[in-house]
Amino acid sequence: MARIALVTGGMGGLGEAVCIKLAALGYKVVTTYSPSNKKVDEWLATTRDMGFDFKAYPCDVADYDSAQACVAAIVKDIGPIDVLVNNAGITRDMTFKKMDKLNWDAVMSTNLDSVFNMTKPVADGMVDRGWGRIINISSVNGQKGAFGQTNYSAAKAGVHGFTKALALEVARKGVTVNTISPGYIGTKMVTEIPQEVLDSKILPQIPMARLGKPEEVAGLVAYLASEEAAFVTGANIAINGGQHMS
Ligand code: NDP
Repeated sequence: MARIALVTGGMGGLGEAVCIKLAALGYKVVTTYSPSNKKVDEWLATTRDMGFDFKAYPCDVADYDSAQACVAAIVKDIGPIDVLVNNAGITRDMTFKKMDKLNWDAVMSTNLDSVFNMTKPVADGMVDRGWGRIINISSVNGQKGAFGQTNYSAAKAGVHGFTKALALEVARKGVTVNTISPGYIGTKMVTEIPQEVLDSKILPQIPMARLGKPEEVAGLVAYLASEEAAFVTGANIAINGGQHMS
């Protein structure tokens, strides 16, 4: 039977590439979208035309109750989740001097609380069944910090702390927990950065002198979800064109 993969934020650049990759490998892929997303039907129609049969559920990953209700509905309608990709995330960049509590809280709840909110209703089932993959999408900026991103860097660094601690707790139960830390990938989150900032500040930091492709990150997710990756746990795998080596 096909394994079930849940990818949060699958209608965004990176999440969509992950959905497509996992579906192409035979997983039954379910994704989530923000309750405010107005393009759900269009996305489902477009991906259906491409030959995919994605299921999509509304979920505010920042909200604990919303996440519990979303996972409960997926389990009831489709089945238990074998692979969880915590991908949904936002940026609210500003210097610390300008950072207000609203923008701190928004990023912490969407990028870090979300990992707890989504993993909580999924992990026990994986442990009981003796197999599971939890893949958390962090960022190079959680590893090295970034100007204007005290909120984002803190949340993304926190993601890997979560990964390591949970990986220890479930290691004997066939469940792996890993972090992927992408560098700058050519999705909306990055292409919204003004071109002159990309050209003058970001690309010069990347030895490969280009943005990463969502498909490159999706390939890494697929590996971590696979049987072959059973011995990889608690890892933080960088995929950043050489921008940061640790
Ligand atoms: P996008 O902005 O393209 O997509 C983000 C996704 O997150 C969207 O699908 C969005 O859903 C979802 N999302 C945001 N807030 C919520 C919420 N409260 N509840 C549910 N879903 C939500 O970003 P990317 O594809 O670029 O980023 C994906 C992940 O990769 C993020 O965690 C990001 O931090 C990380 N990352 C990205 C990098 C890059 O260079 N692009 C680099 C390093 C890390 P909806 O559209 O329905 O609101």
